[in-house]
Amino acid sequence: MTIPTNTEHSEPRTLFIGGGWQSASSGAIRKIISPADGRLTSTVSEASADDTVRAISAARASFDAGVWSAVPAKDRGDFLLRVARRLQERREEFARMESADTGKRIIESRLDMNDVISCFTYYGHLADQNPGRIVDAGDGTINSRIVYEPTGVCGLITPWNYPLLQASWKMAPALAAGCSFILKPAELTPSTSILMMDVFDELGLPPGVANLITGTGTESGAPLSLHPDIDLISFTGGLVTGRIIAANAAQTVKKVTLELGGKNPNVIFADADFYAAVDNALNGAFVHAGQVCSAGARLIVHESIAEEFVDELVRRAEGIRLGGPYDEDAEIGPLISADHLAKVDAYVKQGIAEGARLRTGGRAATEEDGTGLSNGHFYLPTVLDRVERGTTAVVKEAFGPTVTVETFATEDEAVEIANDTIYGLAGAVWTKDAGTAQRVAGRLRHGTIWINDFHPYLPQAEWGGFGQSGVGRELGTTGLAEYQEAKHIYQNTEPSVTGWFANRT
Ligand code: ADP
Repeated sequence: MTIPTNTEHSEPRTLFIGGGWQSASSGAIRKIISPADGRLTSTVSEASADDTVRAISAARASFDAGVWSAVPAKDRGDFLLRVARRLQERREEFARMESADTGKRIIESRLDMNDVISCFTYYGHLADQNPGRIVDAGDGTINSRIVYEPTGVCGLITPWNYPLLQASWKMAPALAAGCSFILKPAELTPSTSILMMDVFDELGLPPGVANLITGTGTESGAPLSLHPDIDLISFTGGLVTGRIIAANAAQTVKKVTLELGGKNPNVIFADADFYAAVDNALNGAFVHAGQVCSAGARLIVHESIAEEFVDELVRRAEGIRLGGPYDEDAEIGPLISADHLAKVDAYVKQGIAEGARLRTGGRAATEEDGTGLSNGHFYLPTVLDRVERGTTAVVKEAFGPTVTVETFATEDEAVEIANDTIYGLAGAVWTKDAGTAQRVAGRLRHGTIWINDFHPYLPQAEWGGFGQSGVGRELGTTGLAEYQEAKHIYQNTEPSVTGWFANRT
């Protein structure tokens, strides 16, 4: 199998439709540029809405023919386990492509690949673990059972921060359930999704089960939420786009799963392990330059330690080294694009204009901050304190290397501030007191709560948001159930005349 994208090819073929590689029907292409150094990574096809409709037809045909949906669940699970093994063998190739598109450090891309492999392994093992259940109908003549069937044809739309990982959270359970799908990765980071189709193809997934569209959301993504042949749409991305997709999907009453980011609180009590809390506050806010939906972007610190805590945080933030994927000293990479950097910078400037105090950062990196940094979209780790409740800095998701600091006096106040957001994806509480930890964890209205930690997640554990962070869950058993329909099959083993309409007997 030849990888259908390269930097020389004038007409790349990166649409994977019905088991074959195709170019965009319009001949349109897109150049993928490294955000770390501005170099050309690859050239891909830029699909039109018509191309997407062709992919929907292919997925529909495969689903209706039962080439995957009727395969025994155990065999579907075995296929996912083979995918996991093949990804392990091709891990470095994938990691390099992920770093090329996103600019993230190669060691982070390798870790992402480990997580992708774990996700396929988890759903590989889970695929045949839920054969349904017998319902006690209270009468020996009735055979009543629940079976879980694949939902159908799924549109999977993914963002650019963890391109293959986010796609895997959708593809693995969709395949385990027996669905067919069309994946539409973010237009800036399609390369690992292209490689992934190659793996499915190589391992013999029937044509039409997995389809890939590379292109923009408004053009090639939109038909996925509108087309009547799509049964389910699973989207990870920004809140505004999520609202559009949900509204579109409502027209044909699709199942919808949305993961729309967060404005995640990190609550630090006075008795917390000080250095562990500072260190994890850095991780929470600045890992992957803060381009993480669960980033700990809102520090909520007890007033008695706030000054000391922020001083140490600022000192550590100023020591963070920026650089490209293969810079051994680098700790964080670039933002995804010039446009995104401009958005992050505008967010910071707005915060300052609304009264926040800039403690460090607040600008794009220059050559004085490190050689080569001005070739990429690097932004300095930024700390804003003295932020006012309700201002842009604490309300809006920046999706960049920024953190705000608010203070509290009482546990009630900490909880109130932490819950004061339209989002509800994740949050953390730092304290040595088990009672405080459990009470606060119970009261935070967020989908994941870390106690004395930040960022870990498990493929076995549900992930998703309260409030406007989204609808539904990914990962865990619920993440599989999203791609299934429960069907009740009721059999009367001794049919008889009911006598309801007496005059008919
Ligand atoms: P960002 O603003 O950070 O790029 P988006 O939420 O717009 O994030 O993008 C996430 C994904 O949604 C990408 O794959 C993008 O192409 C896609 N997308 C954007 N707009 C639409 C839309 N109207 N319909 C379907 N997909 C879309």
